[in-house]
Amino acid sequence: MAGVDGADGPRTLGEIASYHAHVYYDPATTRSEAEQLRTWIGERFSVTLGRWHDVKVGPHDQAMYQVAFASEVFPELVPWLMLNHGRLSVLVHPNTTNPKRDHQADPIWIGPALAVHAEKLPEHAEIEYAPAPNTNPVLRP
Ligand code: ZN
Repeated sequence: MAGVDGADGPRTLGEIASYHAHVYYDPATTRSEAEQLRTWIGERFSVTLGRWHDVKVGPHDQAMYQVAFASEVFPELVPWLMLNHGRLSVLVHPNTTNPKRDHQADPIWIGPALAVHAEKLPEHAEIEYAPAPNTNPVLRP
């Protein structure tokens, strides 16, 4: 509970420098769906599409690619992913200075939740602002 002096009040949005959406797929069965979703995202949103990881990497328990985006993109991209993720699971997490908490305690899942090996992540890291977008959106979401 917040104290009267606010010293133990809620965390503030200023902690969030950017967001990631991790789009998971199975290379054997759903890669084409992940490709379709990636194309659709690139056509509609100013984001940074990360490279394909067909094998597990970092804390992730399945093949995936990352979508990095600024806070201003969240109100359109995240609801759009809710409608368009199909059979894919998507992990959306904030980027603060605590990657372990960002992935383990504070994310939202679109589609079925998967395992996240957060023990591989640090509890302190440099703040990660959204990188320059690498998409050229031409369609409205
Ligand atoms: Zn991430």
